Amino acid sequence: MVPLNQSSVAQKLAGRLALTRRDFLRDAAGLALGGALVGSGVLARAGIAPRNRKVVVITFGGGARDQETFAPQGQGNIPHLMNELIPQSSFFTQVVNRGILGHYVATASLATGVYETINNFASLPPEHPTVFEYFRKDRKRPASDAWVVAPSNGFNRIGESSHRSYGPGLGARVILPKHLLTAATSGRRDDYQHLLRDNYEAPFYAPELAGSEFELQQLEMILKLSVDDFKAHAQTLSSPDELSVYIAHRLMQQVAPSLLWITMHDIDIAHAGAYSLYVDGIRRTDRLCSDLWKAIESEPEYAGKTTLFILPDFGRDSDDDAGGNGFQHHRTGDALSRTTWMLVAGPGIRQGVALDRPTESTDLVPTLGAMLGFSTSLAQGKPIEELL
Ligand SMILES: [Zn+2]
Repeated sequence: MVPLNQSSVAQKLAGRLALTRRDFLRDAAGLALGGALVGSGVLARAGIAPRNRKVVVITFGGGARDQETFAPQGQGNIPHLMNELIPQSSFFTQVVNRGILGHYVATASLATGVYETINNFASLPPEHPTVFEYFRKDRKRPASDAWVVAPSNGFNRIGESSHRSYGPGLGARVILPKHLLTAATSGRRDDYQHLLRDNYEAPFYAPELAGSEFELQQLEMILKLSVDDFKAHAQTLSSPDELSVYIAHRLMQQVAPSLLWITMHDIDIAHAGAYSLYVDGIRRTDRLCSDLWKAIESEPEYAGKTTLFILPDFGRDSDDDAGGNGFQHHRTGDALSRTTWMLVAGPGIRQGVALDRPTESTDLVPTLGAMLGFSTSLAQGKPIEELL
């Protein structure tokens, strides 16, 4: 018998995970199997021209495993995904990340459609054009039409690559809610420590960004929030991701960007080793995804013309991998930590179907390009036909 090489073993495991995921979902959420293409043009049939469409991308919080989410014992942690969102979505059961499993570099890879190799722990721009640059350059859109809400200082470069044909001036505006809050409280953080907790992995180079004037200007001029109102509202929130969703909703109301990207990060508190905090993070992220979908459906600028994508950057290690420490980290690069999922909802998207064929993290950007009508020539992935 010929021994299977490492990568075909990983592929087999990923395939098995996908089938298990679909079975879990079919039982619980009544999903149909949607393997066959229905043909192209679903968005066109929804009657929305590309120039009027909006897209909101949510990255689902820094890695969660099946047993705390889609498996029967985990479904109680994601009631909003299970009961509200999945029944009205196309759900991809096998999205494989073949890149580096660090949050910044993996999120940058999602945003460029190329497995980036930049140092996860440095403040560097992605090397390939981001979806924001493709969108703005090709569609001639102003800076106000593409925004990123990002969890930590380390993400402040994600909106714009170092690619010479794109780069400076063509990217997304990046808003860092924690930085905004730090500026608003003039460094007196005592009442807000729980909202300011930054990266959960050490070592992380978190550059102190210069000055607070720019943040205060964002707050007042763009978000139309006074420092006092912002501080008062922040006191009602319980985590950094709640702060991010508050800011994202405010951006939707005040700026209404066509392309809005929100990176969640609370779940990554798992690195601290407390299982209950990790599960709390999953439950909160589940609720916040639902809150954002409700915001999309209730804001006139977004209702009826917005496609929502929810996907994790990657998973976490399995309990029985000798090289890891279970839920706590994502160090082994095993199939469980590389095989994720994606949920897509909105007008023209088929509802209540599960698609098992493998897709890759790098397919997101070409799919967004095909959906919104711009070229993504340097991205590695392929548009996901079932969504177009
Ligand atoms: Zn992590």
